Amino acid sequence: MVVMKFGGSSVAAPAPLRRVVSIVGAERRPRAVVVSALGGVTDTLLGMAARAASRDETAALRALEELRRRHAALAAIVRDNADRQALLAGLDAGWRDVATLLRAAALLKASAPAATDAILAHGELASSLLVAAILKDAGQPAEWVDARSVIVTDARHQQASPSAGETAGRLSRLVRPILDRGAIPVLGGFIGATPEGVTSTLGRGGSDYSASLVGACLGAAEIQIWTDVDGMLTADPRIFGLARAVDRLSFAEASALARFGAKVLHPSTVRPAVLAAIPVRILNSQRPAGRGTTVTAEPGRRSALAAGIACLTDLCVFDVPLPDGAGRPAALAAAYGACARAEAPVHVTAVSDDSVAIVVDDGATGDRVAAQLDPGWLVTRRGGLALVAAVGDGFASIRGLASRALAALDAVPVHVISRAPGANHLACVVDRSDLAFAVEALHARLFERRAGRDGGDPASDLAVTHPAAFRGDSQELRA
Ligand code: ADP
Ligand code: ASP
Ligand code: MG
Repeated sequence: MVVMKFGGSSVAAPAPLRRVVSIVGAERRPRAVVVSALGGVTDTLLGMAARAASRDETAALRALEELRRRHAALAAIVRDNADRQALLAGLDAGWRDVATLLRAAALLKASAPAATDAILAHGELASSLLVAAILKDAGQPAEWVDARSVIVTDARHQQASPSAGETAGRLSRLVRPILDRGAIPVLGGFIGATPEGVTSTLGRGGSDYSASLVGACLGAAEIQIWTDVDGMLTADPRIFGLARAVDRLSFAEASALARFGAKVLHPSTVRPAVLAAIPVRILNSQRPAGRGTTVTAEPGRRSALAAGIACLTDLCVFDVPLPDGAGRPAALAAAYGACARAEAPVHVTAVSDDSVAIVVDDGATGDRVAAQLDPGWLVTRRGGLALVAAVGDGFASIRGLASRALAALDAVPVHVISRAPGANHLACVVDRSDLAFAVEALHARLFERRAGRDGGDPASDLAVTHPAAFRGDSQELRA
């Protein structure tokens, strides 16, 4: 079987929804469909919860009414009158629950994490009901499955971690029989529930993760991530307009790109696929005939040595002074401990002679870290930063590739450089205002033929000198 996941833009309007019908119809293998909320809906639901919590119940309910209308307009695609009425009734029942939750948030002047998840879940519940009904109306044997009864998670709301064992058990009880009778299960991504049945969500962009879990637990031959770009691109297209699709990536490369901001994949998506050795394909639902990107353990030879450039914005760096001598390890532990207590994911860190630089998200995360750092330490905080990461398995094995990437940034002030032994990336922290220039310079150095010193592939001299680099098995060339 295969898992076909459709992102928000692939289900946002009548024309994309019709493309989903034809893409699912063209797949001959048994398939399960996972869908995101319609584009923009999760943001709207979050905004509604925040408005209700700040006592603007009227505005929250007005936004809910707009959501209701938007979904009802799409429900009109279903031609069969009885099926359309049943769909509308199902959608309305969900919106009534959201209204109740919003009123409760307004009364409480707060939306508790569990309540926010209960509100957010309705984006994917509605889109999956809609897609199941539209597929069925087009003659495909679709059956809606409530993802909350299948994906079992812990109770870390908005950032829940699924339990693979329990989820696998639920999938074999509730989803496998649907496939066995030749039907197409349709589930909302992103959402799950705790073992006690409390609704949870897997973090923004989490529908990819749901698809990967479903695929891994059901032993899929392939996990397809259908989105609005041609695959994993050589750089974030919102920062660099000339990025192009990469046809093959290793799991490790896709994972690093996702972790450093390539939004096309949720960072946890690759893990279940790696464990079950299932290829992940990233495909464009607007151009279904394209090759897309295939992510596997052994991607084989590629023309460029690098895999891509990813970036994160809205970062800040804390510079924590370190004492000399025996006190250093304890001071480092205290600085990292502050991040742990603040539950702040640390993007990169670098220890220098007299300080440690720790890079985290700015805003609320940075404020939490600041609150945990001892005021006596004379820490400095600098915002307005971005991270740019050049990624490729060759960075671990090809001498000269990392320094070549770094040389591309000669003209850019780099605040922090992170380059761990054996890592498949080089990460640099720069001013946000320099990010576009940095990405363009790196792209020219790593991907554009005409930028090479000799007019050829910018990395071709490395490839010729070190053919083993293509197999990723060179020890001697470790940079
Ligand atoms: P979906 O709704 O299908 O899940 P997302 O918006 O989550 O889509 O992810 C697709 C978007 O990711 C693209 O439209 C693009 O703007 C962004 N993106 C960022 N970096 C990359 C990259 N390296 N390759 C492809 N897309 C990227
Ligand atoms: N709808 C969720 C979000 O916007 C999950 C997803 O799209 O993958 O984050
Ligand atoms: Mg996404």
